[in-house]
Amino acid sequence: MWRTLVSLPRRALGFLSRGEAALAALSKQVTRLADLLQHSVKRDEATRDELHKVRQALAELRREVHDRLLQNTMTVTRAARALEGGAAASSNGDVRLSSRPIMVDAADPVAVSWEPVFGADAPDPEGREWLTLAACPACAHRHFTVVSAWNKLILLEKAPDATSARYDYAVCHACGILFASRRPSGERYRFLMQHFEEVTAKRGGEAVTNLVLNPRPLSDVDRDQLRRLAANGVFVSDHIGLSRREYLAPLLRDRFENSLHTDVIGALLSPRNARVLEVRSRAGSILDGLRSAWGADVYAMPIWESQQFLLGEVYRITTSPPIDFDHFAIPFDGAFDLVLCNHMITHAVRVSDFLATIRARLKPGGHLYLHNEPDDAEFLKGSQSMLATLNPLHLQAFDQASLVRALAANGFETVFVKHQKNETLFLLARVADPVPITMSDKERQARVVAYQQAYDRAVLRVDDSTRARLSREWVDVVQHAVASGAAEFDERGQLRIVAPSAD
Ligand SMILES: [Zn+2]
Repeated sequence: MWRTLVSLPRRALGFLSRGEAALAALSKQVTRLADLLQHSVKRDEATRDELHKVRQALAELRREVHDRLLQNTMTVTRAARALEGGAAASSNGDVRLSSRPIMVDAADPVAVSWEPVFGADAPDPEGREWLTLAACPACAHRHFTVVSAWNKLILLEKAPDATSARYDYAVCHACGILFASRRPSGERYRFLMQHFEEVTAKRGGEAVTNLVLNPRPLSDVDRDQLRRLAANGVFVSDHIGLSRREYLAPLLRDRFENSLHTDVIGALLSPRNARVLEVRSRAGSILDGLRSAWGADVYAMPIWESQQFLLGEVYRITTSPPIDFDHFAIPFDGAFDLVLCNHMITHAVRVSDFLATIRARLKPGGHLYLHNEPDDAEFLKGSQSMLATLNPLHLQAFDQASLVRALAANGFETVFVKHQKNETLFLLARVADPVPITMSDKERQARVVAYQQAYDRAVLRVDDSTRARLSREWVDVVQHAVASGAAEFDERGQLRIVAPSAD
């Protein structure tokens, strides 16, 4: 930053000398044009040609002057901001800049449109199933800062309809979670779940090939195939020589990936003969593990038909119909000692209702175990794009501290929380009285700034077609990004994104 500031006068001089030369050449052209006009009215073609060249040169010069003035203004603003904020707000000279330079000017605006998802008729044509939140859905606090208008659909060609991309993601000033302050409910949300592969566009929108995690409804043929493959069980040894097409290899993979949770729960709770429910079970690995090791009485709530079918077929676990994310309810009787939730807080349409439903069905002193919850560090401090990460099913995002606070506000006291190897969070909490929560001003400020910078970086790295969609906010984002240090001009005057510091 200081290097950039010191080099400003030199860069300004460089521009002025180049600008001077350009102006001299232009004035020569104008003189020649005046001569032409004076000496002949018949040499129309040459005059037109000359006039055209002069116009072009003028336009280029104007653009250059505009860009350089904008660049210098932005750099000075950034420097002033850094001076105000002290050393912490200034970069130390060894920042990592993006290899691709960023356009300073907005693209020509285009009318924003999307192709329909799968040619299917989108639900809710009158837009009645949008919820607009006036308070945080996790802690009910009424103050928040909107940091991004868009979910991942802004990057994609297909969407349910033209209103689906706008979520107005906001940071709550009390618990610190990020939430979609505009979010789909009812059929609108169900439609997103039904078209999971297209609207999340993982693997470029290709169909999920893992039979155990298949989100599509099952046909009779699918059921027969799953039944036949599942008959070989989970632990299919290599020495038997079965081809991978003859059994369900993902079952053991899921077991390996999730056995740590069986171990952690066993070590912390000793859940002997406990009554356990898992919400959004994948392949039933954790429940079967707890049943084998501790004699737990287990129940599962799957999200896809494929999982519902396999949980019964492979492990003989009692299952519910697929989960309703909007109006969440537990369709089993009685109270539980432990409720496990896989990747649920990030998706719940009504977070507090969801947690209250679980809390009401836990025994006094009962436990909630969350796992596979993404930590927003992946885009606040890591290399992920915030726009690409927040697909339209992601209604909440958080870091460890925000999740702990949000749970406390809903009557869950955290007992143990860790990051898994893939950086997702897992957390054990105990039923307690809800407590008032707050963040320090410093923490709130840091969180809002981190989100604004992540948004700026994500916008600036979009491709040309998305840049045209974002033409209205482009220049604001560029100016804000330079002022906040999310982007910088390099020594040649090209704008580049600054990689976040990993602390
Ligand atoms: Zn909150």
